[in-house]
Amino acid sequence: MDAKAPITQDVLTIPRKAADGPLNLVGLTRVGLLEALIEAGTPQKQAKMRAGQIWQWLYHWGVRDFDKMTNLSKDYRALLARTFVIAVPEVVTRQVSEDGTRKYLVRIAGGHEVEVVYIPETDRGTLCISSQVGCTLTCSFCHTGTQKLVRNLTAAEIVGQVMVARDDLDEWPQPGDRNNAAPRLLSNIVLMGMGEPLYNFENVRDAMKIAMDPEGIALSRRRITLSTSGVVPEMARTAEEIGCQLAISFHATTDEVRDKLVPINKRWPVVELLEALRSYPKVSNSERITFEYVMLDGVNDSDADAHRLVKLIEGIPAKINLIPFNEWPGAPYQRSSNNRIRAFADIVHRAGYSSPVRKPRGEDIMAACGQLKSATERQRKSRAQIAAETGL
Ligand code: SAH
Ligand code: SF4
Repeated sequence: MDAKAPITQDVLTIPRKAADGPLNLVGLTRVGLLEALIEAGTPQKQAKMRAGQIWQWLYHWGVRDFDKMTNLSKDYRALLARTFVIAVPEVVTRQVSEDGTRKYLVRIAGGHEVEVVYIPETDRGTLCISSQVGCTLTCSFCHTGTQKLVRNLTAAEIVGQVMVARDDLDEWPQPGDRNNAAPRLLSNIVLMGMGEPLYNFENVRDAMKIAMDPEGIALSRRRITLSTSGVVPEMARTAEEIGCQLAISFHATTDEVRDKLVPINKRWPVVELLEALRSYPKVSNSERITFEYVMLDGVNDSDADAHRLVKLIEGIPAKINLIPFNEWPGAPYQRSSNNRIRAFADIVHRAGYSSPVRKPRGEDIMAACGQLKSATERQRKSRAQIAAETGL
């Protein structure tokens, strides 16, 4: 047990089973679905088969209507419709950037809204999903961190983001489709939208298990990346219980600077973070950890920073993803120049690490990394409040 008090506060987690109203089948684990069907009166002997059939309707075919589940009897479909719902977030607005990036604003229970971004590339299509409304952490360069209201998303709301994106991309298979060999439009998921996924671990885990299940959306664990600001005690569980790829929002090479940029560093400083990464379960299999590093002009982008960075991560199989800072109204930083980013990348590269520079996407619709913040929650923390929290 970590003796330190948790840094997260006042996060409202919706009970997994609503006290009233019908239960949503979306977001239940396979076991949860089985149990729910038995509780609803499905004979024990049939329950496993029924759960398998319903699972496929939900996650392979993308069906939202019990009446379309044609391999179930009419009576059984009626029972399901009386007892359960199939609910995914509602898409409120959909914006398409000049570069093809799509941003969806989706509404969830309680009227809250979160943003989901689809980024098409030549060899893949990545969906950037959110794990919380807002974020309890207050990274000083992140727009989401200025949003006051925070609530954890349910597993249904997390996997539901993938489902509504597949709806929009028209990517559910049609009955009669053979094993479709065409490349997937939605081929990758990154948990890099709003929120800190490791502060909502169980829901993120259950949602990603659904997305990976071979009898459904069936994305490989290698195509899912969870990004964390460095919640050290929860990191190993990412490998053990989800098995997806891990990215760390590193962003600075000294505690002094990281305390200001990523305040959770005060709780788990650089040395502790690196220690946890050295013993990270997947590291022994040489699965690379991505280090995200936002390039902030004059703050963390010097040659000395680059040299320190490669020294710090020595021995960790890593890739360093340099992210040009994306501005948002009132942001206290500026993006490093292209020359500076290139010089930084060169040093990292010469030390033997892959150092791709992330291309900002969807900036014209405020869809780039760190620009997300739901329109209904525009009230900002004051500059003074941010300054007090970060020591800037
Ligand atoms: N809370 C998680 C995941 C969401 S943020 C985390 O912090 O890792 C996803 C990535 O975008 C993180 O690396 C984050 O540091 C980065 N980011 C946040 N604001 C940004 C901005 N304005 N410009 C560029 N990257 C930003
Ligand atoms: Fe939260 Fe990540 Fe933004 Fe930090 S960078 S405030 S952890 S969403």
